[in-house]
Amino acid sequence: MAYQIKADDCSNCGACEDACPCEAISEKDGARVIDAEKCSDCGTCEAECPSEAISQG
Ligand code: SF4
Ligand code: SF4
Repeated sequence: MAYQIKADDCSNCGACEDACPCEAISEKDGARVIDAEKCSDCGTCEAECPSEAISQG
């Protein structure tokens, strides 16, 4: 399963997008979202998120 961002917990800081090696993260409606088609399940974004908004879904 791909990683997911919980929009309510996301501060839209962009750290996850900067860290993603697959360019799977983009901004949408004031939060970052993960494109499951591009996500390789590496877990890098989860480790980088200061808000613990990312989890494996
Ligand atoms: S798990 Fe890896 S590939 Fe998937 S969105 Fe996070 S950093 Fe990108
Ligand atoms: S690192 Fe966390 S808080 Fe920052 S944009 Fe990504 S999901 Fe949102």
